Amino acid sequence: MDAVSWLAVAAGAVVVAVVADRVVARLPQRTRTRERRPGGGGAGAFGELVAGFQPGVRHLQAEQERQRHDLVLPGDADKPWGLDLDAGTVELPAASSRAAGDARGGGAPGLPRAGGHGPTEVAPGVWTWTAVRWSTTTTAVVDPDGRCLLVDPGLTVAELDAVARDIRARGWEVVAGFSTHPHWDHVLWHASWAGVPRWATPAAVRTASARRVALLAQADADAPGHDPALVGRLTALPDGAAELAWAGARRVVVVPYAGHCAGSAALVVPDVGVVVAGDLLSDREVPLLDLSGPDPAGTYAATLDTLEAVIERWDVCVLVPGHGAPTDGAGLRTRLAADRAYLDALTTAAEVSDPRLADPEQAAQHREQRALLRRHGG
Ligand SMILES: [Zn+2]
Repeated sequence: MDAVSWLAVAAGAVVVAVVADRVVARLPQRTRTRERRPGGGGAGAFGELVAGFQPGVRHLQAEQERQRHDLVLPGDADKPWGLDLDAGTVELPAASSRAAGDARGGGAPGLPRAGGHGPTEVAPGVWTWTAVRWSTTTTAVVDPDGRCLLVDPGLTVAELDAVARDIRARGWEVVAGFSTHPHWDHVLWHASWAGVPRWATPAAVRTASARRVALLAQADADAPGHDPALVGRLTALPDGAAELAWAGARRVVVVPYAGHCAGSAALVVPDVGVVVAGDLLSDREVPLLDLSGPDPAGTYAATLDTLEAVIERWDVCVLVPGHGAPTDGAGLRTRLAADRAYLDALTTAAEVSDPRLADPEQAAQHREQRALLRRHGG
C-alpha cells in the first residue's frame, strides 16, 4: 500500500473510533443532566487511540480537564468557549457580533449567555468572560497588536487563573486595568499582571482605600484565596478625565455616574459601539441603589438618563453589564425600560413585578431598598 492509501485507512479508522466513542460515551450520559463526566467527554473506550491520532482531540481533552478543575458550570446550556463536550466540537466565537446571526441566549444574536466562562468576542476586539457567581463579567478590550485593557476581572481565584491563561494563550498583553466601581467584586487582580496600572475614578480610589479592610474581608468571605496585596490597588484617573489614557491605541471614553455607588464609571469603546457599564442594566440584578446618598432613587434615575445619552452619542449597540448577559442595542433599550419601571415602582410603593426578583438575593435587596426609601420618605 502506498503512503496515500495508508493515510486514507488511518483517517477512516479515526472516524470509526470517534463515532464509536461518542456512541459509547453517550449511553450513560442520557440519565445525567448537570454533572460532567469525571473522565472527560473524549476519554471513552477509544479515547486514548483517538488522542494519539488527532492533536485536536488531545487539545479537546486538555480543555475538558481545565474546565473540570477550574470552573463549576451552572448548566449544560452554558458551555464556555462554544465548546460542545458531548459533540466533541469547538464553535469559534463570531468575529463580529454585529454580523453574527446565531442566537446563543441572552436574547441577543451573537452574544453570550450568562454563566459560561468565556472568552467570547462580543464585538470586534472586545471579549468577555462570565464568572459563575452573580454572572460577574470580565471584559478585555484588545488592540490589533494584542495590547489589552482588562475591566473588572473576576471572580474566584480559579476563574482569574483561567482568564490569565486565556490571555497568555492568545498572546495578548495586559497593559492597563480599569475598575468600574469600588465594590470588592470589581477590584480584583491577578499576579500575572502585577505592576500594570489599574485605573478608576478619584472617588473610587478614595473609597477603595478608606474601605480597604472591609473590601479584603468581603473578598475573603466570598472568593477566598485572593492575594490581599492585589485587591483594591487602584490608580486615580486625572480629575475630570473624559478618556482613558492607556498604553493601547483604541479610544476608550470614561462616563462617571453615581447611581450604583459613588465613584462608578462606565467605559465606551466608540470604534465598535460597546459600553462596559459596571453594575447597571443587568438582566439578573434590579437597580441596586447607593442608599448612603441623599436621594438614592433620583440619583439612579439621573444615571439611567446619562447612560441613555451616552448610547445616543456613541451609537452604542453592545452592552456589557457588570453582572449578567451582554446584549445588543434592542436589549439595552429593554433593560433601560425595565430599570425605569423598577425605580418608578420602588418610589411610588406600587406593586413591583420584575422577573429578576425571583432570585432570593435580589428579593432581599429589594426589600431593603424599599424599607430604607420608605423611612426616608421617598
Ligand atoms: Zn457593585
